[in-house]
Formats: sequence, structure tokens, C-alpha cells
Amino acid sequence: MHYHIILTERCNLKCKYCYEKSMKEFENGLEEKWDFDNETPFDNEVDIDKIKKLLKKEDVLIFYGGEPLVKIDKMIEIMDSLEGKSVKFYIQTNGIFLDKIPEKYLRRLSKMLVSVDGTKARDNENKGSFHYDKIIDNLKKIREKGFQGEIVARMVVTPPHTDIYEQVMAILGLGLFDSIHWQIDAGFYKFDFDKEKFEEFVKNYNDSISKLLDFWIEEIKKGNVLKIYPFLGILNRIRSWDEEKGLPCGAGYGNFTITTNGNLSACPIMNSVKNFYCGDVEKGVEKNIKIEDEACDVCEVKDICGGRCLYWRDAKLWPKEGDELICDTIKHLINEIKEKTKNLDLKKEDFEYERYFGPEIIP
Ligand code: SF4
Ligand code: SF4
Repeated sequence: MHYHIILTERCNLKCKYCYEKSMKEFENGLEEKWDFDNETPFDNEVDIDKIKKLLKKEDVLIFYGGEPLVKIDKMIEIMDSLEGKSVKFYIQTNGIFLDKIPEKYLRRLSKMLVSVDGTKARDNENKGSFHYDKIIDNLKKIREKGFQGEIVARMVVTPPHTDIYEQVMAILGLGLFDSIHWQIDAGFYKFDFDKEKFEEFVKNYNDSISKLLDFWIEEIKKGNVLKIYPFLGILNRIRSWDEEKGLPCGAGYGNFTITTNGNLSACPIMNSVKNFYCGDVEKGVEKNIKIEDEACDVCEVKDICGGRCLYWRDAKLWPKEGDELICDTIKHLINEIKEKTKNLDLKKEDFEYERYFGPEIIP
């Protein structure tokens, strides 16, 4: 099982699509819709012995935040306590404090998902002027220090920008990342839907996706399967190499999140929403949560898409027409992969990947 653990809700960045937008979102109706747990502290207060009992051999613990490295002391304490348990450690981080992880602990991490939004200009626009140079420097340093695991680029596509092809190429060109995935910043806030602008976004983004897919397929033909997670995950489902039909991110059945007060939530961005609790660190997982949605029930790509995102589907912050436009990007992505790979002779083993550790698959 994969478990995220929220070490803290604090962060050391003020990204446009997270901090800035949340500051503008005064009334989104979620307070009335969901039952919020007011007992969740900012920093993780869970008894480590309980975490130790919960985790079984070969489970994966993914340090998450806010920014988990703001609480690097807690991360180290947990890693020390779990020594000898054969638990794997991953981290999802903005990368700023990566140089602060002592070598001994760096070597015990086996995957990291590092936020970067593409070119230096795009990344700085979203995350502030020093982020890009700092993380590039840090990634070089951690490789020199002996980190041998996978480094996943975690991108956010920020409308009105549609140039996913150029941004992915910029990241691949660095030679620092082993893999990549992205999520579109759409449908996560109530105030930011603009029909005309988003319609324009969908059209151009879809064109850019087609271009990126052409590039991916050309590389496959040369014997090089690039780990572009949305393409990999969707192809696995199209070919029925992955027979699961739920959310490809695994939230609520393939992975769970240890909240700051020790509940198990379906998704790491829902630290304090009781509606999405599935158990706690003492009792373990007591139930699974899956998406229930009328539009998804009758959708032709349901078994592949799985409903995109539990948070988005339940929160319904955008009007129906906005959500349908988001679905247009998903259907385009799935149909393009289906169409463009249908005559290719592909071997399952070349496209295997670890599921449920963080990449959303459906952007
Ligand atoms: S494309 Fe949209 S409607 Fe279809 S399954 Fe995905 S989220 Fe649901
Ligand atoms: S896609 Fe949605 S449900 Fe899945 S992990 Fe991301 S935010 Fe959570």
C-alpha cells in the first residue's frame, strides 16, 4: 500500500496556483457541503509508534505537505523509527530544501516528485524568481551526493498557457528528470472560470498534446519509451494491461493519506475533510472511496479516465459547462493515444510503471 503522510500544511513558497488563488477564494460553498475536521493541526502530531504498526513490509511512505522539508526533523525522526521495517520512502517536494537532507537519509529515499512548471520563465512566473535556479542546483547536488532514485518532474499547466509540448521538452532537455507528469490548474477554485478563455485554452492545449504525443510515439519507434506518466498510464488502460477502472491516481483505494491528526484520508489535498476519511492510523483502512458521478457513469471513456480527480468531482467548483470543457481535454488525450497507438506492436513490459505513488495520470 502507498501512504502519503502530511508532515505539515506549511509551505515555504507562495505559488500562483496555490497560495495566491486560495487567498482570492473567499466563498466557495465547501464549508456547507463538506464536514471539516477542525481538530487537524498544521504540523503532524501522530504518534510514530502507531505509524510503525500501520505500515507493513514493502509499503511505501510518501512525505508530503505543505512542503514536507519544512519539517525535515520530523521526516528524519520517522525514517529512524522505521529503520529495519523494509518500508520504502518517497517524497513530494518543491525542491527548495533538498540540499538540507543529510546524505544518509537522501540515500534512503528512493523516489522524489519535484515541482517544476517547465522553462525557467514559466516556473519563475508561477513559483517566484528564485525557485528554478535553486532546484536545478539542488538536483545536481543530490545526484553528486549519491541519490540514485527516480526524480519525477511535477508540472502544473496554468491556463491561459497551452504550450505543454514546449514545456515538457524543456524539462526533458535538462537531463535531470527521469519522468514527468502534469495537472491542469482547472476546476480547483470557484472564482477562476472564464468560459471564453477556457474554450480557447482547450483548443490550443489539445493541439499541443497531439504534438507531444507524436514526439512520444516517434521515440517509442526508436526503442525509447519516455516516462511521460499521463501517456503511460492511459496506454496501460487502453491495452487492458491495467484492468483497474477507478481513479488512476489511486486516491481512496490504492493510496491513502495520513493526516496531521492521524486519520486516513482518501487524498493528500484533503487533510481535514471528514467526508473523505477512510480510517485512521490505529484501525487502518476501514473503507474505500470511489467516485460516484452521473456524468462519469455514462461517459464513453470512464473506464480509462476513472473520473479525473476525487476532489474536483465532488467539490464541483466550476459550472457544468466548465467541467465539460475539462472533460474535452481528457477525451482528446485518451482518443488520441487510442488512435495513434492502435497499429503499433507494443510489449507490455516496456510500458510498466509503478501505480499510485503520486502522478495523477489524468491531468
Ligand atoms: S472524461 Fe469527464 S465525464 Fe468522462 S469519466 Fe472523465 S471526468 Fe468523468
Ligand atoms: S487527482 Fe485528485 S483525488 Fe487524485 S491525488 Fe490528485 S487531488 Fe487527490
